[in-house]
Amino acid sequence: MMMETDKIKNIKFTVLGAGRSGIGISKLLKKSGALVLLSDSSKKEVLLYLNEQVLMDFGIEYELGGNSDRIFNAEYIITSPGIAPGSDVLVKAKAKGIKIVSEVEAASWFCNVPIIAITGTNGKTTTTELTGTMLRDSGFDVHVCGNVGLAFSEIIPDLKSDSIVVLEVSSFQLEFTDTFRPMVSAILNITSDHIDWHGSLGLYAEAKYKVNKNQKDDDLIIINYDDITLKNRVSIFNATVGTFSVNSPSDDFKYETYTDNDSVCYKHDTEEVIINKEEIFLRGTHNVMNSMAAIMAVKKFGVSNDSIKKTLMNFKGVEHRIETVRELEGVKYYNDSKATNYDSLYVALESFKCNIILIMGGKKGVNNFEIVDPLIKERVKFICAIGQSREAISEHYKDTVMVKMFDEFSDAVKHAKNIAKPGDFVLFSPGYKSFDMFQNFEHRGEVFKQIVNEL
Ligand code: ADP
Repeated sequence: MMMETDKIKNIKFTVLGAGRSGIGISKLLKKSGALVLLSDSSKKEVLLYLNEQVLMDFGIEYELGGNSDRIFNAEYIITSPGIAPGSDVLVKAKAKGIKIVSEVEAASWFCNVPIIAITGTNGKTTTTELTGTMLRDSGFDVHVCGNVGLAFSEIIPDLKSDSIVVLEVSSFQLEFTDTFRPMVSAILNITSDHIDWHGSLGLYAEAKYKVNKNQKDDDLIIINYDDITLKNRVSIFNATVGTFSVNSPSDDFKYETYTDNDSVCYKHDTEEVIINKEEIFLRGTHNVMNSMAAIMAVKKFGVSNDSIKKTLMNFKGVEHRIETVRELEGVKYYNDSKATNYDSLYVALESFKCNIILIMGGKKGVNNFEIVDPLIKERVKFICAIGQSREAISEHYKDTVMVKMFDEFSDAVKHAKNIAKPGDFVLFSPGYKSFDMFQNFEHRGEVFKQIVNEL
């Protein structure tokens, strides 16, 4: 909700965390006349976005390498996703009566254009980028921000009166919202994740529902009707409800997106066919769902079906998520380095009907083989197992699927190339975290792409 900047003037704010969002919000607050202390417990060397000169130019006070007691000398604390609600610092702040808000909440005070806020356990980045691309392709001035890339507070200075903000918003950010009111919100799905941070699945889900807390009747909430948790709650959401489902329409809602045979359809007063599922460039049922959520969001802004269809046929997806790398001698190579667990591995396998040569493995972790066993047996021709978990993978599959272990990542990729036949898919979908051999999943995906491009 827009806040009068007068209400910010001379108010004391402590911003915890000097990452992109912390620095961005410090600048906005300071420009509006607030008294800002930016505090980070990390040392300067590890703070990638910190530029002391910029902070000094803005007149933002800061302290690094630890939080002093000065942080409690504030009316508001802007907290950061790295700090759990139960942490000492927030518990103490709360006891002192300090208001605790997230950067998304505070940045929204400065935003007077429509916000599309996208949340959920999986698919946020893809759906956010896709929604932004649909609007951009249709001629809107759109600003995509949130969890990845630009922070919400960083795009505020660039907004024009006719801009639209598409915001990826995590449960961490939503937990500490108060007046945040998107014109369109979408909850893609809710499965157990980040339970440690929130305390329980119930609290995690409640944080996500906050995206809808301040929405009014003429706002729209888009929910996944195939997600049982969301479906059961549908009657108590605020705002107009729009549902999407890969099944038939329920006819209970004003706006519905669904599939009819292979067509993706949208129903408001009339029923419209938007696109055939097979024409969507992104692979997999999960991406049909992400596409449906994006369709509903942009329809609110009058984007035409033709334009939506064009974007869906051309949108290549987000890096490291079943990303097409190249085709070589009739074999297609895909980088799905973001698949750090078996749920993600499952949706990747589900996206290819057969002929998969799977490169998997990573840092030792939970081996949820039962999630993927049926798909691996049905669709995978060969497994190249890498990383710390390679032995467990090999042991589990050795009697059912051809599997070979590799010490070197490049040897695994080369072996995949040597055995692949035209029409096969080489899929790198690790199913484990990357920290055994790489800095993070982005680094792992870059290395994979480099090896593939040099084959
Ligand atoms: P997030 O930003 O929520 O992590 P991404 O768009 O980055 O989501 O996708 C992360 C991974 O989640 C993908 O690699 C894919 O395995 C899985 N995924 C994406 N969309 C969905 C969905 N709608 N349902 C289930 N899993 C999904």
